Amino acid sequence: MSIKGKVAVITGSTSGIGLGIAQGFARAGINIVINGIAEQAVVDGILAELQGYGVKAIYHNADMTKPEQIRDLIATAAKEFGTVDILINNAGIQKVAPIEEFPDSAWDAITAINLSSTFHTTKAVLPLMRASGWGRIINIASAHGLVASPFKSAYVAAKHGVIGFTKTTALECAEQNITCNAICPGYVMTPLVEKQIADTAAARSITPEQVKNDVMLKAQWTKKFVEVEELAGTALFLCSQHAQNITGTNISVDGGWTAA
Ligand code: NAD
Repeated sequence: MSIKGKVAVITGSTSGIGLGIAQGFARAGINIVINGIAEQAVVDGILAELQGYGVKAIYHNADMTKPEQIRDLIATAAKEFGTVDILINNAGIQKVAPIEEFPDSAWDAITAINLSSTFHTTKAVLPLMRASGWGRIINIASAHGLVASPFKSAYVAAKHGVIGFTKTTALECAEQNITCNAICPGYVMTPLVEKQIADTAAARSITPEQVKNDVMLKAQWTKKFVEVEELAGTALFLCSQHAQNITGTNISVDGGWTAA
């Protein structure tokens, strides 16, 4: 079965990994609903690029902290395209600080965007996938869904939660040709990572260069940052017919980080 012509909703796809997945999916002929916080000019540029691959692409500005807006994202996708075949839960933010100094507001925002939004999108999309008898849900977790690092309490808690939610989702829809899996990237040089270099340097009293080489790439045995194209390729594989029995699991794309 070809994935050409399918419809994908990708949360947080105006930047970084989500954008990379949107580009990879559009090249594979998948229609796309992008989402994220971005200037109109940025959104227009992304839509023009995706449409240039010959697919339909629209933007919805749902804030992933707002369940009502999330429901509207899925409803709008279904209205525009007839259904939603693929859901990529990717939107995420990060905050690096010791627990005693961790702002309550940052804990609430991270758990809402990185974890709870995944519940709200999945809840809204499952009836559409059950009705069509096919679906693929891919949650972008993290190596931090499997192991911890200091100073990332909310992120690590949320990402571990995403992996648990992935398993439950998989079991609840296993007989309807709907799979749900998590991808666990190591470090990818996106705006999310660039922003945390300074905070990590401060929290650990080291230089930004030491953060890159001694903290980030220290964990990645390949000594390479993961590229967004590799994550798009992994997501495309999970959408393929060959992956129909891969469900309720996580695929690490982390240069060996969690093997050690
Ligand atoms: P990024 O900052 O480049 O992109 C994040 C996206 O989420 C953007 O489109 C942003 O607009 C969107 N977003 C943020 N808050 C939102 C909100 N309230 N509502 C809607 N959209 C919102 O980050 P990234 O590195 O591409 O991260 C994407 C995902 O990958 C995240 O879930 C992150 O935790 C995960 N991840 C990233 C890395 C990495 O090294 N970059 C590693 C593992 C996992």
